[in-house]
Amino acid sequence: MSGTDEYVLDYIMLNKDTIQGKVSELASSIRREYEGREVVMIGVLKGAAIFMADLVRCVGPSVDVKMDFIAVSSYGNSSTSSGIVKLVKDMDTYAGGKNLILVEDIMDTGLTLAYLREMFTARAPKSFRTCVLLEKPARKKVETAIDYKGFAVDDEFVVGYGLDYAGKWRHLPDIWRVAKRV
Ligand code: 5GP
Repeated sequence: MSGTDEYVLDYIMLNKDTIQGKVSELASSIRREYEGREVVMIGVLKGAAIFMADLVRCVGPSVDVKMDFIAVSSYGNSSTSSGIVKLVKDMDTYAGGKNLILVEDIMDTGLTLAYLREMFTARAPKSFRTCVLLEKPARKKVETAIDYKGFAVDDEFVVGYGLDYAGKWRHLPDIWRVAKRV
């Protein structure tokens, strides 16, 4: 896609209540696994910021949750992934010996997640898991496991709940499909 005005919000694919229900389920799974232990949850900026904020609040006090963030940029345009990932901001925490959960907004081809998995496992954490809100199975190019998975969606470009198109629409509470303006 190119330009920012040629696309419009089409329809709501996942409404805010459906999203919050899933976030609460994912948080329960994380709580069951890490009760009484420390876990460093690493949000991938900027797309996962809103998901991460809701998720950590649902996990609750029985898990010792630490929050950290990384930022990556993928070479290529904003709607396709080149698979070449550049780490723009690293986490502040030392990852060695820690339980890590990477929190991502969406897995499309899987190239970004596969790259990040390799990067984090090379840092010798105690454990490494991934939590991804949306997955597009039809677009998958590499097999990389998602430990805590939200929704599988069709091959449509979506925005809202942290996801953008050219910087727009991240702030919407629902997840929308976008369409070409006619
Ligand atoms: P992957 O490396 O899995 O192909 O791409 C992952 C990244 O592509 C996501 O983190 C996101 O930035 C971007 N992306 C893929 N599909 C979508 C989509 O439908 N909407 C938005 N806003 N970003 C997407």
